[in-house]
Amino acid sequence: MAKLSKSECDTGKDSPPLGRGWEWTTILNRYWGYTDFRGIQREIIESVCSGKDTLGLMPTGGGKSITFQVPTMAMQGLCLVITPLIALMKDQVYALRRNGIVAYAIYSGMSRDEIVATLENCIFGDAKFLYVSPERLSTEIFQNKVRKMNICLITVDEAHCISQWGYDFRPAYLQIAKIRELLAHPSPLYHHPPTQPIPVLALTATATPEVIDDIQEQLHFREKNVFRMSFARDNLAYRVHYTDDKEKELISLLSRNKGCAIVYTRSRARTKEIAEILNKHGIPSTFYHAGLQPAVKDERQEMWQHDKVRVMVATNAFGMGIDKPDVRLVVHTDCPSSLEAYFQEAGRAGRDGRRSWAILLYNNNDNARLKSRIDDTFPPIAPPKDMERDDPDYPKDNIRDIYDHLAYFFQIGVNSGEGCTREFNIDKFCTYFHHFPTRVHAALAILQKAGYIEYESDPDTKARVKFLLQRHELYQLHQLPADYEKVITALLRCYGALFVEYVYIDEAFVAKQADMDQHTVYTILKELSRRAIIDFIPRKNTPLITYSQDRIDGCDLIITKEVYDRRKEEFARRIQAVIDYASNNTICRSRQLLRYFGETDTKDCTHCDVCINYQKNLTPEHGLEQTIKKITDLLSDGKKHPIYELHNLGKLSDNEDDNVACDLIDKALKHMQNEEIVYMDGSFIYLNR
Ligand SMILES: [Zn+2]
Repeated sequence: MAKLSKSECDTGKDSPPLGRGWEWTTILNRYWGYTDFRGIQREIIESVCSGKDTLGLMPTGGGKSITFQVPTMAMQGLCLVITPLIALMKDQVYALRRNGIVAYAIYSGMSRDEIVATLENCIFGDAKFLYVSPERLSTEIFQNKVRKMNICLITVDEAHCISQWGYDFRPAYLQIAKIRELLAHPSPLYHHPPTQPIPVLALTATATPEVIDDIQEQLHFREKNVFRMSFARDNLAYRVHYTDDKEKELISLLSRNKGCAIVYTRSRARTKEIAEILNKHGIPSTFYHAGLQPAVKDERQEMWQHDKVRVMVATNAFGMGIDKPDVRLVVHTDCPSSLEAYFQEAGRAGRDGRRSWAILLYNNNDNARLKSRIDDTFPPIAPPKDMERDDPDYPKDNIRDIYDHLAYFFQIGVNSGEGCTREFNIDKFCTYFHHFPTRVHAALAILQKAGYIEYESDPDTKARVKFLLQRHELYQLHQLPADYEKVITALLRCYGALFVEYVYIDEAFVAKQADMDQHTVYTILKELSRRAIIDFIPRKNTPLITYSQDRIDGCDLIITKEVYDRRKEEFARRIQAVIDYASNNTICRSRQLLRYFGETDTKDCTHCDVCINYQKNLTPEHGLEQTIKKITDLLSDGKKHPIYELHNLGKLSDNEDDNVACDLIDKALKHMQNEEIVYMDGSFIYLNR
């Protein structure tokens, strides 16, 4: 999918309409700058626009968002997007706004006033997209307001979360069907009574056949309707490198392959260490993880995106919403916890279609490490009955105790706390109650799944401002210090709509405009807020916990099989799949991955480590035979091909394997000429028919 320049995008606008397909392409050009759809995007859009409930199975990076954004722009009304991924939500809202499209998001950490203002804007304004987390759906305020909105499409992202058969089951997703019901009977104030039911578009990157059925059933699909796209990535070579010295192997890989790279590692501390080692070896690197300050993250991402630094060493927090086409190499120094995650992270290489490598560094210690993640991710629910706390075997990090400790920590009594949002300092909590952070993090995630709390571990909110006074009232303020006026003027100059809604601001930018330092601007904004001239919500990245229901006693917590046992089994199964992938040296890596995603009709990729080893170990006769077949296949279209194409055909890797391949091709060519299977014409070659 090629990007168009701005001037090219605009040329289509005034041409006569040629049906809906044309309309969609025009929208795609105008707002996203692409010339055409790819994969199954067009089929999904067609289905949605004809009013059908639709399930789309697309790999990450397959261009999911286009499938609901383009139809919405072609329709009257607003698209409700339900997604649990808050970072993605914010990314997409920024991206849409950059393209001049009105979009909003609601997530934890927003004040009630902000939420109300946002919902009102979606009722009365010209909003096209409203992103919400599934947990929002059950709130009374949301249910009241949504009935007054002119909704044209409901998009359910990560749709597998609705299925109790899937690993990511979230009870809140079951609310979606209820919202459908509500919208079918809108409020009397509703200005646009729907003539037909509002279609649902469910999207997921991975789902087993039973989950696929379940999604459609749980979302009350009127008819089964599934579109699926192959997950094959022909230009990507998957490799597993066995090595006891991962650092040495990493340095060697990055020295041989000079392209842009991402190195994934599990721990935040390791990102820094590895980046330092690489820099010492003359490989320009930086590092990234969720614990960094937002400004630092932005800066590093920017540097890498614009090739000012070649290698990004990161945890899995890096990558969402990043679409750098020319990443040549993605290396994992530790195994991810699932092949889904591996496929997604590895898939960030080679988006431009050119040969790229996804390499997993692996050794025998990795299996035990992988297996220990099962207990870390699923700490025990409760201590065994009758066991005393001073018993040396007492499971300290059990979920019930952590839930109770949380309430002590926040001073929240039994039967109160619903809707309470608190900042959560996990280090302080762990020091105080002697817990392990990994286990606490896991326990909170389980409590969230069980519906007791909302836990946002890595919020990254920008500062927001709304004026509480009207513009004319502002001019009547007389006794403001000059500095304050400067800040107000800068705000008004930099941002629109400040009188209507909360607007994200960049304090550094405002400071520059006002010709002050950032700290002074911050203090003034705080003071203006105190004087009720503006409402200022500073940026922060402290984790947040919200009680979704009143606090109960830890021993009364209900952690169902769906939330715990079944997910734990599923998690263990995923871990095993990663071990199998890393240790299976007989089946093509690409084949293994595609089979895992349910694709059976696959072929050997010819450039993974398994395929290459196979080719190397072939007898010379066998290798020759294979190469002759490859050449015949290439020429079977009957056309004349330039000779150099044959050599591309033989290109198996970035290194020493090339010589072997070229040698074979020369031999095969000589043989085919002698047998008059092919003819040469200058530097062209063609098949004798
Ligand atoms: Zn292969």
